[in-house]
Amino acid sequence: MQKLVDLRSDTVTKPSPEMRKAMVEAEVGDDVFGEDPTVNALQKKAAELLAKEASIFVSSGTMANQLAIRAQTHHGDEIIADKNCHNFKFESGGVAALSGVLVHTIEGERGILKVEQIKEAIRPKDHHFAITRLISLENTHNQGGGSIYPLEEIIRIRELADEEGLAMHLDGARLFNASVASGIAVKEYARYFDSVSFCLSKGLGCPVGSLVVGSAELIDKVHRYRKMYGGGMRQVGIIAAAGIYALDHNIPRLKEDHGNAKELSGALHRIKGVAINPEEVETNIVIFDVAGTGMDAQSVTDRLRERGVLVLPRSPTRVRAVTHLDVDVEDMGRAIEAIHQILS
Ligand SMILES: *Cc1c(COP(=O)(O)O)cnc(C)c1O
Repeated sequence: MQKLVDLRSDTVTKPSPEMRKAMVEAEVGDDVFGEDPTVNALQKKAAELLAKEASIFVSSGTMANQLAIRAQTHHGDEIIADKNCHNFKFESGGVAALSGVLVHTIEGERGILKVEQIKEAIRPKDHHFAITRLISLENTHNQGGGSIYPLEEIIRIRELADEEGLAMHLDGARLFNASVASGIAVKEYARYFDSVSFCLSKGLGCPVGSLVVGSAELIDKVHRYRKMYGGGMRQVGIIAAAGIYALDHNIPRLKEDHGNAKELSGALHRIKGVAINPEEVETNIVIFDVAGTGMDAQSVTDRLRERGVLVLPRSPTRVRAVTHLDVDVEDMGRAIEAIHQILS
């Protein structure tokens, strides 16, 4: 059988033989005692990369976001976020259940909030209102189609946050995609945030893992909540080794994924009835609307599957395809051919 071209998500990647070798050979210890040398090395590396004091290894991007928000808010506080952001929309209501905060959602353009919108959403300091405590941004923005947060806007938002005494969290699940595409170092993005989460298990190709990065004081707090949430792990260097391998080897190659996404968006753009702006495809996520073809997203998804190409319907008429290190140029060619057969 022909290999499936799986474009549902960049989480479907499997660890390469080299990554597995690093995992097999990892030195390990009990990380709850802080004695796993490989975890410690990964945390040090992550903190250095983002130029922050400390970092902590956790099991998922969801846990990373939830811990960062929990450690910087109190029950009854309000946080400001885009209405389609991951930590509001796709984390099982965790911020309400675990942190007890209200989310004041505003709608960004492709997930990007402007400083003026955020300013308007900050509650007055009056006992009638919840206390606005934190601003949460996402870079790249998943639902925004992998959109990159403009650094100038982040800087303006930081200035506002400083004036208002607010904390800032960055959901950087795909921060390395943003960095490779924009040429802006991850530490340059990170410097404007109190906490940053990023995933090893997406474009970087690891089987598991995310990090929260911030000041030593904040990460110490996060550490306590990680334990509370049941996230303390033992000889987890076996997984952290994959993370070190990924940070050493899999960052620059993200540009290949971005190239493949461009190729795909260009091909889609040439098909009558498909709505997509290729200029908006900045990284590895391609979202296109099939309404004009007379088909819906589910039937396009089903018919692509019959031809060995997997994508995800994101709304009744919108389909998402994500490129990653387990799809090469040849796979993309097959995906584009299948799309042509179905939609042209
Ligand atoms: C995938 C993702 C996460 C977290 O994902 P997990 O599946 O919990 O690891 C967080 N934020 C964004 C923007 C994501 O795309």
